[in-house]
Amino acid sequence: MTKTVIITGGSRGIGRAIATSFSEKKYNVVISYAGNDTAAKEAEELCRQAGALDVLLFKGDVSDEKNAEELVGKTLEKYGQIDVLINNAGITRDNLLARMSAEDFDSVIATNLRGAFLMTKYVTKPMMKKRYGRIVNISSVVGVHGNPGQANYCASKAGLIGMTKSAAKELASRNITVNAVAPGMIATEMTAVLSDEQKSAINSQIPAKRMGEASDVANAVTFLADENSSYITGQVIGIDGGMGI
Ligand code: NDP
Repeated sequence: MTKTVIITGGSRGIGRAIATSFSEKKYNVVISYAGNDTAAKEAEELCRQAGALDVLLFKGDVSDEKNAEELVGKTLEKYGQIDVLINNAGITRDNLLARMSAEDFDSVIATNLRGAFLMTKYVTKPMMKKRYGRIVNISSVVGVHGNPGQANYCASKAGLIGMTKSAAKELASRNITVNAVAPGMIATEMTAVLSDEQKSAINSQIPAKRMGEASDVANAVTFLADENSSYITGQVIGIDGGMGI
């Protein structure tokens, strides 16, 4: 049976790996992104090569309610259904608390948490009607443990965990599961800004002694989004080489 997935921030990094994995499973893959058209086109091409039934690109800030509504509307118009939503779009604006501007606090909460709320709100109606849905939120190990210099980011990722559990309780009776994954250090453009010294300091704290790959996250996400994972809901799965133990 044909299935459709929306992946916010699906054009780069972890989102792109997730989009490719769903393509291999022959989904219609809807990729949202903020502004980098070149990366989005590359992701589209990779998904087509990987076997996606179809690919739809959507450019727009997910924290803007009009965009979230339009993204869901366009997906329904084109494919008639939404089986899976992956709330992956995320940004960082790191600084120590005393130096962090209110704007940097607000923008991280807006993209990482408000965006996920809006997308969940708008997919819920068609999923409830169909009595089927899988929602996976990309949180972070620092949403559980905190991290100096990332009060805004950690708050957004902790917020996602609370939202995951609440939505799971609200939607379980409609056969809609809502789970979160909490990746540790994953090699993407987001973490490429760290110096080699910072990376080796972090790696020494990880029991597996290495960073993870975007595909490690994608593997867990596609598992949670599978039809057969219907009795797993409200969970937070660490994908962190043991970092969160
Ligand atoms: P990247 O920076 O590599 O990619 C971010 C993606 O999100 C891009 O597709 C970007 O689009 C999109 N995006 C950013 N802001 C918005 C917005 N307002 N609206 C729509 N799309 C947006 O990030 P990663 O792949 O590293 O991270 C993906 C997720 O995983 C994030 O939620 C992150 O917090 C989380 N995570 C990452 C970890 C890591 O170590 N990398 C660890 C734990 C969690 P565009 O290219 O157009 O800007």
